[in-house]
Amino acid sequence: TQAALDRIAAHEKLGAFLHVDADVALARADAADALIAAGNACPLTGVPIAHKDIYVTADMPTTAGSKILAGYRSPFDATVVARLNAAGTVSVGKLNCDEFAMGSANENSAFGPAHNPWDVSRVPGGSSGGSAVAVAARLVPGTTGTDTGGSIRQPASFTGITGIKPTYGVCSRYGMIAFASSLDQAGPMARSAEDCALLLSAMSGFDERDATSVQQPPQDFHAQMLAAREGAAAGKPLAGLRIGLPKEFFPAGLSGDVNAAVRAGLAELEKLGATLVDVSLPRTELAIPVYYIIAPAEASSNLSRFDGVKFGHRAAQYDDLLDMYKKTRAEGFGPEVKRRIMIGSYVLSHGYYDAYYLQAQKLRRMIADDFQQCFTQCDLIAGPVAPTVAWKHGEGKDNPTQAYLADIFTLPGSLAGLPGMSVPVGAGEGGMPVGLQLIGNYFKEGQLLHTAHALQ
Ligand code: GLN
Repeated sequence: TQAALDRIAAHEKLGAFLHVDADVALARADAADALIAAGNACPLTGVPIAHKDIYVTADMPTTAGSKILAGYRSPFDATVVARLNAAGTVSVGKLNCDEFAMGSANENSAFGPAHNPWDVSRVPGGSSGGSAVAVAARLVPGTTGTDTGGSIRQPASFTGITGIKPTYGVCSRYGMIAFASSLDQAGPMARSAEDCALLLSAMSGFDERDATSVQQPPQDFHAQMLAAREGAAAGKPLAGLRIGLPKEFFPAGLSGDVNAAVRAGLAELEKLGATLVDVSLPRTELAIPVYYIIAPAEASSNLSRFDGVKFGHRAAQYDDLLDMYKKTRAEGFGPEVKRRIMIGSYVLSHGYYDAYYLQAQKLRRMIADDFQQCFTQCDLIAGPVAPTVAWKHGEGKDNPTQAYLADIFTLPGSLAGLPGMSVPVGAGEGGMPVGLQLIGNYFKEGQLLHTAHALQ
């Protein structure tokens, strides 16, 4: 823990952390030492980690990357945080992220950007940018992220680390500040599939405080990952595994360097015994408008709670209650959050609901059905995480539509609620990391982790 704290201080300029608390961390480390001395350690006891600042924590502030939560302190821990505490991890601080997890570059954080440690003139991806930077720069071995439309997978890909978004409902959303509730999912980010498996086992499990939490017994993803290999011929841990390549995931617009790195990763999977099969996800492009209707719609409702009455910031001067709401929200929210609230309010409004929101919901179901059609022909789906490597700071800032289009490969799986992960497979332009995306069927996290582990 002390080594992590020293390294965090030495690399402060990366902008990975919004808050570090050495006293809290060292007290936790002492408690972990006592457990180890007493012979009561779990695999994660004493391991320094940090949480995306979208998870509420009782012993540290929580901002969700927004000025509107300045000064806010939660009276309780998010379930994911509480479970990782119980597993003995030592949380050292809170990680930078896009405001309310809206973004793909960590440039929408009210507290400044985070920088990609491979090239600090480039973005680390987002919205879990700080979580990715902290692992990639070896500040801590593992972090938590959240993924609504790609926010674990894309920054993992951009920084050369491993991240998994489990099936919707596997991790509790209790205490994870809501962006789009029907899509939000927690997950770990770490150096390897093995580390992700250990963290995910600790984080996940049924929680009666989250109405969409899946009622299943606690899972040992690490054991599942290793068991998947049992009986496999030497050197062929993936024998019999059919990996589907949707043709829509390899369009003409896919950058050549990303294509080459992904193809090299796929060739490795073949060497390990997997068979590659051609499949199709015909509504891949539609995932973008569908997601950018549904996610803002849910966000416009979720973010109505930030009104200056209950949490964080309140405007200093106002005439009446309505004026207080208006001024607080005008001052507290950044431009991307305001844009989403406007879009969401518009698509939910009378007269437009049927034309936009309802159509999007219907297409969402069809996108999920397309995946089930694919899974009759293959066990896993593979492709790129993003169409390019990490871009330079400032490049996506003035053109939100351009940034939305870059989410094309992560959005379909999110809309379907499927588990997905990013595994580093090589480097592209400027030596920047490229991740391979693996998407599994519902509750196939063990199979995803096993496949990624074989590759690593
Ligand atoms: N980039 C997407 C967005 O801006 C996804 C974000 C996320 O997964 N939290 O909404």
